[in-house]
Amino acid sequence: MDGQMQLKQWIEDSENIVFFGGAGVSTESGIPDFRSQDGLYNQQYKYPPETIISHSFYLKNPEEFYRFYKNKMLFPEAKPNAAHLALAKLEQQGKLKAVITQNIDGLHQAAGSREVLELHGSVHRNYCTRCGKSYTLGDVMKAEGVPRCSCGGIIKPDVVLYEEGLDMEVLKKAVFYISHADVLIVGGTSLTVYPAAGLIDYYKGSRLALINKSVTPMDSRADLVISGKIGEVLGNIV
Ligand code: NAD
Repeated sequence: MDGQMQLKQWIEDSENIVFFGGAGVSTESGIPDFRSQDGLYNQQYKYPPETIISHSFYLKNPEEFYRFYKNKMLFPEAKPNAAHLALAKLEQQGKLKAVITQNIDGLHQAAGSREVLELHGSVHRNYCTRCGKSYTLGDVMKAEGVPRCSCGGIIKPDVVLYEEGLDMEVLKKAVFYISHADVLIVGGTSLTVYPAAGLIDYYKGSRLALINKSVTPMDSRADLVISGKIGEVLGNIV
């Protein structure tokens, strides 16, 4: 049986599927990932992206942080692709229990997914670091330079920067879903960003499918590896 047929069968047979994904899930929506050839890490800037989107850099140089963040990380026009839509459909059918994502773009919710665990936060939530007031993505986009609250404080996106910790509640829920999953589908992630990538260790089943365009350090751990574009693969199967 070829890989896609095998995965289709697993999906048909299961009512406890969990999905874990990353930036590669949104490339077919026009949002660049970090580590592909045309990803952000292969473009040239004054500073490496890991530096700019770190907590200490954000504090020291919010102007440069926001210049990069607004130009390179915000894609308000992006629409869900076939991968997002297939996962939302599986949830509606009662087969998929949760989407666990490293993405910050909100496209799973836009596709209709309800149980979405955003390990790295969301560009759609922003708050004043002084008074806590909430702001929308639109508020951040329309601000000149560093967005400021009416109280004068700096507005920060609710996005986990390098050097920052993950939300423990979100992490605990992700561990719960993965450790109870029957089928775990992992896709569109280089599986190199920790602690997120380590979540796979909690899976105890024997139907781990990995869908990625390139090889990952965890291919040998998967029960099924499908090499391809995740939107095309899931769009064909679901
Ligand atoms: P990554 O850039 O490290 O890896 C992306 C992986 O997806 C690569 O292995 C690539 O080969 C694969 N890929 C790209 N397009 C694909 C496709 N159409 N189908 C299948 N595979 C595809 O991304 P990562 O592992 O998520 O880790 C990087 C960090 O980047 C995450 O923490 C995330 O928060 C952040 N990020 C998020 C977005 C977003 O929200 N859309 C975009 C860029 C980066």
